[in-house]
Amino acid sequence: MTTRSVSRRTLLKQGTAAAVATGAALMGGGSPATAQTAVQSGDRGPNVAGRKFRGVVSTGFGPNTTRLVDLTLLPISGRQVVIQTEASQCCYTMCARVLGTQDPPDPLGPQAPVIVNDPNEPTIQGHGGVGRVLAIGADVKRVAVGDRVIVPVTAQCGQCYQCLRGRADRCQFGVGAKTVPIATMSNGTKVVQAGNIGGLADYMVAFEEAVIPVFTNASSEELAMLHCVSGTGLGMVMTLAPVEPGSHVAVFGMGPVGLSAVQGARIMGAAQVIAVDPIKVRRDLALKLGATAALDPNVDKGWDLVARIKTLCKPTDRIYAGGGYQVANRAGIAANIGPDFVIEAVGYDRFMPKVEAGPDPTGMEPLAQVWQTTPMGGHLCTCGVGFPTQAKVAFPVGQWTNGSKTHHSSQFGGTNSMRDMPRYIRLIEQGLFDAKSMITDKYTLDNVMDAYDAVAYRTTVTAMIVMG
Ligand SMILES: [Zn+2]
Ligand SMILES: [Zn+2]
Repeated sequence: MTTRSVSRRTLLKQGTAAAVATGAALMGGGSPATAQTAVQSGDRGPNVAGRKFRGVVSTGFGPNTTRLVDLTLLPISGRQVVIQTEASQCCYTMCARVLGTQDPPDPLGPQAPVIVNDPNEPTIQGHGGVGRVLAIGADVKRVAVGDRVIVPVTAQCGQCYQCLRGRADRCQFGVGAKTVPIATMSNGTKVVQAGNIGGLADYMVAFEEAVIPVFTNASSEELAMLHCVSGTGLGMVMTLAPVEPGSHVAVFGMGPVGLSAVQGARIMGAAQVIAVDPIKVRRDLALKLGATAALDPNVDKGWDLVARIKTLCKPTDRIYAGGGYQVANRAGIAANIGPDFVIEAVGYDRFMPKVEAGPDPTGMEPLAQVWQTTPMGGHLCTCGVGFPTQAKVAFPVGQWTNGSKTHHSSQFGGTNSMRDMPRYIRLIEQGLFDAKSMITDKYTLDNVMDAYDAVAYRTTVTAMIVMG
């Protein structure tokens, strides 16, 4: 008797009923012609070792250390998957490294992360991407040759402690793992990929833990919103601290992460979604995508912004789910009134914007404001990036210790990639999540530096690299 476990891929491709039927046939010794069979039939794709391709490689820190170079693939190991990249979205997180303004990490700094990799080893940049499986190692079970896949910024192995407790955003196969060479440069130097995934290259070579099979007709560009920014925005409001129907939500920062959080809050049934951003184009886009109000932090400044948001969230005679109640303090605004969910997606200006700049380029004022805006019992999700590693933020001690504010911090918005990507894709298919409107500029690998310029100086919302 043949016994095989049903894979997640089979469930996604065939549905539960068909997968169960397939299992029954297998148990009975049948020979179902299924996709699952294809994974196990020995079709591993061509031998890709020696193939030429191009990738955006950093060879150090500082000006002109990142460029598009010719590369040659190395042989793959048993659990690796070779993906022909179709689209990859440019993250603000990478701007400083790519544009050469980032200092190397200080291995002795008290706040420095544990460094397991040589920061100067040549590295293909990227936070993942979307593409099609070209070849798989002998032990790969999660995907088959020809599958469309998303390679998200964070893996979900499904086996480690963090995955089992629902925090795959901290999967041990994800950020911080030891990187392995996947290619060589023309001088023979070995090249790794950022996070063992890369993305800004014609090929990605990822361990199967980081490869998510997807079965959809959505475009690769739409799907590529999900591998980092939109996965983060949707994750915060749908997984990390799920927005309750009828609640009030405030989102600070209308980059692609914040705009995705606005959409996620709308999809979850928020009664009110208040967007905050200094850039008018972004506020207008937020209103188009589901925000019910859009505020300019250069108009409502400091505490006034906090008070304005709290005032918008005062209880009315409408039925609402937020649970806010009014006990006015001396400022006339109750500490326990405010949005039930507050999302921070602002971060630090590593580059001075060439459009409307916010009131505080360090991002510290927005961090104070989101804390003040969160009412007692409310939820605060933060995900801002780019802060100097030694920067500090302070909170009023009374509210910090027993203010009953719940702070959620995460990698990738708490998204569990293997579980959540398929449902995010359903939202695109149903027209509930508008990925297209957030893709404001498209580039190729040849002009990747222009793409990062636009992202760094905030003259675009999302720069999408589309491979030729
Ligand atoms: Zn990213
Ligand atoms: Zn894991």
